[in-house]
Amino acid sequence: MENSSLQESMLSEMKEQRIFTKAQEYAMQYLDTVFNRNVSPTDEALENLKHFDEDMPITTSNPSVAIDMLHQYGSPATVAQLGGRYFGFVNGSAVPVGLAAKNLATYWDQNPAMHVISPIASTLEAIVEKWLIELFDFPKRTIAGFVSGTSTANFCGLAAARYRILKRQDWDINERGLFNAPQIRIVTGKQAHSTILKAISLLGFGKNTIEWVDVDNQGRIIPELLPELDNKTIVILQAGNVNTGSFDAFETICEKANKANAWVHIDGAFGLWAGAVKALKHHTKGMEKANSWAVDGHKTLNTPYDSGIVLCEDKEALVSALHMSGSYLVIADRDGMFYTPEMSRRARIIELWAVLKYLGKSGIDEMIYGMHQRTQQFATELNTAGFEIINAIVFNQVMIYYKTDKLTQKIMEEVQKSGECWAGGSVWEGKKTIRISVCSWATTPEDVTRSVAAFVKAKNKAN
Ligand SMILES: *Cc1c(COP(=O)(O)O)cnc(C)c1O
Repeated sequence: MENSSLQESMLSEMKEQRIFTKAQEYAMQYLDTVFNRNVSPTDEALENLKHFDEDMPITTSNPSVAIDMLHQYGSPATVAQLGGRYFGFVNGSAVPVGLAAKNLATYWDQNPAMHVISPIASTLEAIVEKWLIELFDFPKRTIAGFVSGTSTANFCGLAAARYRILKRQDWDINERGLFNAPQIRIVTGKQAHSTILKAISLLGFGKNTIEWVDVDNQGRIIPELLPELDNKTIVILQAGNVNTGSFDAFETICEKANKANAWVHIDGAFGLWAGAVKALKHHTKGMEKANSWAVDGHKTLNTPYDSGIVLCEDKEALVSALHMSGSYLVIADRDGMFYTPEMSRRARIIELWAVLKYLGKSGIDEMIYGMHQRTQQFATELNTAGFEIINAIVFNQVMIYYKTDKLTQKIMEEVQKSGECWAGGSVWEGKKTIRISVCSWATTPEDVTRSVAAFVKAKNKAN
């Protein structure tokens, strides 16, 4: 049989590598400019997105058309998160070796579902699991699943909790389902992240059943207000509040929960990494006494997207909760799909491994402590410039306010429009605040000073 012309042209692309070279050149142009360009896209760049709004193509085009369009109209409409002056939400930049490893592994196109499908990815998953246990001082029996982000990691940790709590009462959730199952209690703080609530709804607990615990002015659970715990309870704690960066009192709460045989899950999307920094480690004291943890690579650690990790000290619970079976399965040492909800996945472990391998313990410490120092610098300089600092600076978050909600909002909009830096808004104790998250390895002291200048300019304009 003859090759089709489509197949011929794709084979020739593979051989001649023109689009790969082209895409690589465009990517390098992007890297050359992204640190100095405006942080948010210009109006013109947003306007140009209309070029993508076309009918589904009827015939095949030259592959360079897609690559050219992405370069010409896509790249200017990106947000310059990679650089040092993006402080929105709690997003991260990407460590160069992570980008390079991801780029290389793109051509491998691996699927870590099973060891036999990708020995390299499965091996790296097993190794990074070991490294993380050591880094965070977690129990040796802990296992890790490599998922898309903390939303999914929270879901997995809570699914493991659900499995274990019901199993203790002779109820196999996988066989019998949730209808008529014994009640599970959910205890969490009033500042729990929205993705915790999403996981609770997805798992069929129902948000109305949550026993909410009051928090202090930094968003931390007040331990004295915890209800009586028992072995039917899941306690959900937080390492890093998205607004204040604060940490729950893990030691006190975990000890109480351990005594009652309750399950503790910690949402540590960005804050868990404080546990890997000598000068910040005290914030996470006692977190190793929890049962499951969720953390992102793509936030504080600055791996490329998407990279989340669920860790669980109860292997049987996590693997059973995410169970998967089929006659075609080859059960090797570590088949990734038993540790995640998906079967096929992107081999995101490759970049995560590369970043950990490159930084080592000292590099992680230095990079993340640097983010903390820039955060303190931000707070000091903004305070000197007349802004009110709402939170205690414990990690990498600063919330600021200027006189009224209206003025604060106006300043935020001006700053965003300036292209000098980008920070978003939040609401704290009824006030509309501006939230700054220092989450990029690339943020220098000069970036902070330059960004503070943008805030001052915006304030003078708004006043
Ligand atoms: C970002 C975040 C999440 C969600 O993580 P994704 O990686 O975006 O899915 C959950 N909890 C906290 C505290 C977060 O900061």
